[in-house]
Amino acid sequence: MPELPEVETTLRGIAPHVLHQTIHSVIIRHPTLRWPIPNSLPVLLPGQHIQTASRRGKYLLLAVQTGTIIIHLGMSGRLSLLKKNSSPKKHDHVDIVFENGDILRLTDPRRFGAVLFSSSPFAHPLLKNLGPEPLTADFNADYLFKKSRQKKVPVKTFIMNSQVVVGVGNIYAAESLFSAKLHPLQAAGEVSLIQYQLLVKSIKKVLNASIKQGGTTLKDFLDSEGNKGYFILKLKVYGREGEPCVTCFNPIASLRINNRASAYCLHCQSACSIK
Ligand SMILES: [Zn+2]
Repeated sequence: MPELPEVETTLRGIAPHVLHQTIHSVIIRHPTLRWPIPNSLPVLLPGQHIQTASRRGKYLLLAVQTGTIIIHLGMSGRLSLLKKNSSPKKHDHVDIVFENGDILRLTDPRRFGAVLFSSSPFAHPLLKNLGPEPLTADFNADYLFKKSRQKKVPVKTFIMNSQVVVGVGNIYAAESLFSAKLHPLQAAGEVSLIQYQLLVKSIKKVLNASIKQGGTTLKDFLDSEGNKGYFILKLKVYGREGEPCVTCFNPIASLRINNRASAYCLHCQSACSIK
């Protein structure tokens, strides 16, 4: 599933090619993604140009004069830039065609992605309650500490809640908790300020490492076959259940939290209040 680093990589890949381009036409081949694509887009967008390209959480925002195109890649979505007249394949659901002939194409086999339009995107129901961006100064240990007091939810669930902080998916949560030596089931309200300092540092480090690695795939962005391949981090716990811990050599354990597999090391990730 595209996570925040992949969305950031996508943004950096497309931004130089779409900024200030004028939209010629919009082709919707399959209007039913996670939500219906507004059928007004092919009428509304032509003639407008892309003023800014940005990201909020896992949403890509392309602002035009009358509003903002909101794109989410869902479970399997991918954006690619193609040259004039590239013929669509089976899962190519939406094309934004620019006046120079370039095509911004959304491919989404599982159709959990979204293409929406809003005149005030930050007030949109999908965006208005999002927590801070994890790589900004607003996301810090004091914030998490205050926000978590009295909360009994597992710390892993807490940091994966997009109203607390955006973009910390399952992989990044598991890896950051390992790095901060925190048990995933530790109650969020019982994590100390010092532990949150370590956790925030770990989250920023692991996300930055992914973005940096993703950057190396940017040169492939114009490849119409789009086998960009989401990069593989050097994962220490995620997906390594049963394999030896890189620190203590005991086997990596797994438990289910909120129906998600949660890999962790029983020995390295302290569990002071977990029986
Ligand atoms: Zn260990």
